[in-house]
Amino acid sequence: MPGPESLASPRFADLVPMLRAAGCVFAEDEAQLLLSEASSPAELFEWVERRVAGAPLECIVGWAEFCGLRIAVDPGVFVPRRRTELLVSEAAALMLEHIAPASSSAAVVDLCCGSGAVGVALASRVSLRELHSADIDSIAVECARRNVATVGGHVHRSDLYSALPARLKQRVQLIVVNAPYVPTRVLPTMPPEARIHEPPLSLDGGADGLNLHRRIIREAPEWLDPNGYLVIETSERQAAGTASLVAAAGLAPRIVHSEELDGTIVVGGPRGQ
Ligand code: GLN
Repeated sequence: MPGPESLASPRFADLVPMLRAAGCVFAEDEAQLLLSEASSPAELFEWVERRVAGAPLECIVGWAEFCGLRIAVDPGVFVPRRRTELLVSEAAALMLEHIAPASSSAAVVDLCCGSGAVGVALASRVSLRELHSADIDSIAVECARRNVATVGGHVHRSDLYSALPARLKQRVQLIVVNAPYVPTRVLPTMPPEARIHEPPLSLDGGADGLNLHRRIIREAPEWLDPNGYLVIETSERQAAGTASLVAAAGLAPRIVHSEELDGTIVVGGPRGQ
């Protein structure tokens, strides 16, 4: 098979076998996207080389599709996953059914925001008074600034809640979180896109995967409005663990799973509702 540099201008039929040989399962879709997004044959060569070397497609073209939106994704930033659309749809449903009817506008916090995808997608579906997105990683924060600006939100470089404005204490109607939850020993089994090209900081949840969940959930009541909700992504195997942390923090846990999206979340709501 010819290498990319030996082709004058790669065509669809050239790209598909190269991508397939490199292990890309959706080689046709990827070839189509690379062809339509590259601005020159030189750029296309470079992109195919990076993709064949395992870089995530989204970081190469510079955006990921998430909830029907284009979210900018820089190299070194966690790529938004389809499964996390469950977090957004559940959060949007809570806003419409419980939060918006009770208060005319809502303050929402998106913790461990990465590219900012979750907050941006939520803000594009329901109206928020304030969106505060936070991440500890400066590369993620830079990327999130670009995305979150499109919906008028704020981005904080913050170790969880630490840099959020203190005036938000007890005032947040909704906390949405996709924090790292992969158990450390499972990281080496992740696909190369994640294992090599995403920062371990965005995936590694410690020995049982719940280190970040412990801190986030324990501190949530300090920030949540008494009628507010926490919505946090987890895995199917870890859902019971995440739910028991939610219960221990005094919130009523509910596990939601989607077979279709292969996604699992835990909702923590006010008790007695
Ligand atoms: N299993 C998740 C994924 O790769 C990990 C996400 C996370 O740690 N937040 O989609």
